[in-house]
Amino acid sequence: MMTKAYAFTNGNVIHGDQHQGLAKNMTILVDEHGRIQQIGKEHDMDIPAHYETIDLAGKYVMPGLINAHVHLFADGKPFTLSASEGMLQFAYNHILNTKFGKSVLIKRMKRNALTALHAGVTTMRSVGEFFYTDVALRDEINANTFVGPNLLVSGFFLSVTGGHGAPYLALVGDSPWEARKNVRINVKHGVDLIKICVTGGVTDAKMVGEAGRLQMTVDEVTAICDEAHKIGLRVAAHVESTEGVRVALKGGVDTIEHGAEMDDEIIDLYKNNPNALNGYTALIPTLQAAYPSASLDTSVTKVSATVKENSRLVYTSMLKSVHQAIEHGITMGVGTDAAMPFVTHYDMWRELDHYMRQAGLSTAQVIEMATRTNANILGVDEFTGTLEVGKNADLIVLEHNPLERIEALSNVNMVMVNGNLIPTPSVTRIPEVDQLLNSVW
Ligand SMILES: [Zn+2]
Repeated sequence: MMTKAYAFTNGNVIHGDQHQGLAKNMTILVDEHGRIQQIGKEHDMDIPAHYETIDLAGKYVMPGLINAHVHLFADGKPFTLSASEGMLQFAYNHILNTKFGKSVLIKRMKRNALTALHAGVTTMRSVGEFFYTDVALRDEINANTFVGPNLLVSGFFLSVTGGHGAPYLALVGDSPWEARKNVRINVKHGVDLIKICVTGGVTDAKMVGEAGRLQMTVDEVTAICDEAHKIGLRVAAHVESTEGVRVALKGGVDTIEHGAEMDDEIIDLYKNNPNALNGYTALIPTLQAAYPSASLDTSVTKVSATVKENSRLVYTSMLKSVHQAIEHGITMGVGTDAAMPFVTHYDMWRELDHYMRQAGLSTAQVIEMATRTNANILGVDEFTGTLEVGKNADLIVLEHNPLERIEALSNVNMVMVNGNLIPTPSVTRIPEVDQLLNSVW
């Protein structure tokens, strides 16, 4: 597609690689194909007359954020009603699984994707949605029906009978061949990756300690990975216990979502996993998704005592794995699990802030995780993740320096995705969630 060509002048450039720091007073040219054409000093370039010049004096420009773990079906408002099984079934059969229901759902997903984009997230990996509505949304964006973020989509989860997300959000399979068939069904519908549930989760655990209960076997995970990898698709695994991580890694998954405390065998498998597409497996923790339910009073979060205790167990184990990943040089990306209660689509900086507070990472390190490292893990580094000549112009302009204070990411001045400029981004916030999260630390 052809876009307008732009010259961003006098900007303070953050490249996306933690070792490159800040380059002052730089000019970035973006060509009509939406690609970065040149980065350098203005006096060394000839800016063609038809390029629109945007003066970024005093501002900061960096790669657009990449969120490696989102769901688009919800916006992060806490669930006020604890949905019973009967209600879920009713909603599924009579609302979601109808033409009208799907069109309402797609509209809501589009709104959430645009909220994220206006908040600086130019690439999102959606890991579990209903009825391939995510595939439809991605196709609309790619056909330029509207300007949206780059979307990587998984369609339905793959799970086992009675497993996490089953039956409403998952295709169910109980053997390696059934699991393979489910991969083929998702592939036929046009997904970009496969999302599997190797263990249970906090939301469906009925007893304390049950959240990470093992559900898939190594044979099932191996079959899924083999089937996906042979056509170049990555496999993302929802895992919330140590034994679950071991099974997922042995089966050859590409990312562990959430994660749990590691032992020596697990550490080695993360770093050198011959069955994973990249030869290693990356960890995508989701700290902010567990922290509010784990740390706030149940009178505020409205969750049961069991959910609170399971959240605490999962959070503690996940944080331990973050420290272990840092200590042992395991590749770690960033995802927020946006859509879960208290996780909105517009404040990815909170997840980065969490790593700084709880794991001692620097602003430069967390910015690299959310841009360059995430692009590598997701396999989109050829197109996005850093400000480099030849890559897509996916960038954000900030009022303040995020290397000084990560919260600068909450004040996005402009967004560009594939060369399409959003000059005055606007985000509808959820004040009650913001207030609550501001009170957490
Ligand atoms: Zn999730």
